[in-house]
Amino acid sequence: MDMLGFIERKRDGGVHSGDEIARFVDAFASGEVPDYQAAAWLMAVCFNGLDEEELRGFTLALARSGEVLSFGDDLFLVDKHSTGGVGDKITLLLVPLAAACGLSVAKLSGPGLGFTGGTVDKLEAIPGFRTHLPSEEFLRQVKKIGCAISGHSADLAPAEGKFYSLRDVTATVPSLPLICSSIVSKKIAGGADAFVFDVKCGSGAFMTDYDRAERLAKALVSLSRSLGKKAMALITDMDQPLGEWVGNAVEVLEAVNVLRGAGPDDVREVAVSLAGAMVSLGKEISFGEGCSLAKEKLADGSALEKMKILVEAQGGDGRICDDPEKILSIAPEKEFIRAGVSGTLVRVDARNIGEGVKRLGGGRMSLGEPISLSVGVRLLAKKGMAVSAGDPLLEIRYDSAEKLKESLLFFEKAFFMEERAENSSRSGEEKKRSFVLGIIR
Ligand code: URA
Repeated sequence: MDMLGFIERKRDGGVHSGDEIARFVDAFASGEVPDYQAAAWLMAVCFNGLDEEELRGFTLALARSGEVLSFGDDLFLVDKHSTGGVGDKITLLLVPLAAACGLSVAKLSGPGLGFTGGTVDKLEAIPGFRTHLPSEEFLRQVKKIGCAISGHSADLAPAEGKFYSLRDVTATVPSLPLICSSIVSKKIAGGADAFVFDVKCGSGAFMTDYDRAERLAKALVSLSRSLGKKAMALITDMDQPLGEWVGNAVEVLEAVNVLRGAGPDDVREVAVSLAGAMVSLGKEISFGEGCSLAKEKLADGSALEKMKILVEAQGGDGRICDDPEKILSIAPEKEFIRAGVSGTLVRVDARNIGEGVKRLGGGRMSLGEPISLSVGVRLLAKKGMAVSAGDPLLEIRYDSAEKLKESLLFFEKAFFMEERAENSSRSGEEKKRSFVLGIIR
């Protein structure tokens, strides 16, 4: 293919035909187009964008570069995708919750990326749980019990993986059409009929401000619809870590606790809202009715029961749903970060918490590195709370003194206090607020 002409056209603000884009994706995937030429085109897209037709063509070409799962016409599958955040354990409880509402959910997940954790790593903390199912078994399980969670196979949208690695090292990640095509192509290859996007917004997310998060949410919904899928997006708060626990085993513990009727409000609200959106698309009812059904299935124990069925179907120890603390291995050694002054906690920087957990051994510093599933942290205070000097703000569970030392450099930078005079009242308790910031239907 005439790569020089192809790059020049995008550089000069021109438009490609669908055929041309499909040929380019094939040629890059097969190695015929070298990385430097693909990188030049990606940079041209960063400046000049892709129009709707080009975006559809690029997304489909990425999705069709490998296996595209098909569940047959008798199943209507709903999937969700999170743009990633710190303490985001939602998939762990959302999949059984949505399945308990009567949906078929085939969830493909990835390992941690950057300072954010990954569902596959968290699931590894459940003894015996098989995180990578062959496609045949994945399909069979969804048909039998209504849900399955599996790590992405390299056979799904392989060209997307190749483009993503190149974008990562050529400063071409933050382009709206490139982000949308990357996310939606993987969802299309996963075979679902409807997608719900959880676009995280705040200091612990890829999109730090609301306007950018909203633009991404709208673009994801519009691209999915233009490809014949039903879609909705929620914009949810990631200005501080979600819930209390951040790590691997500890996040499974928190997810099971929410399914058991306990656990923090933010995790419950985000899970119920996402399940509500999935039910709304899957059953063609309103978002409010979907949320009511999800609340009911959480309260009556059917979501917990479905979690047990899911865990056992994938070879895991189902007793995790009865007595999670006994089954999960959580590092016993503890250290604390304490408030230096009395006052109001005005900010908990999610990114520093995520980076700290990574240094503790809970995430990877290099590709393929083994991680510690048992380390993690618990936030003992959240934004808006009044605390006194010496109060613990963070409980750290660690298994290596050396790694603890490294992680403290990040944890110590995560808490921002507004000082209060010693004799003033303990005002500033966090007001009841919503963790769902916006809904794109
Ligand atoms: N997540 C993805 O899967 N792709 C992107 O480009 C950005 C975030």
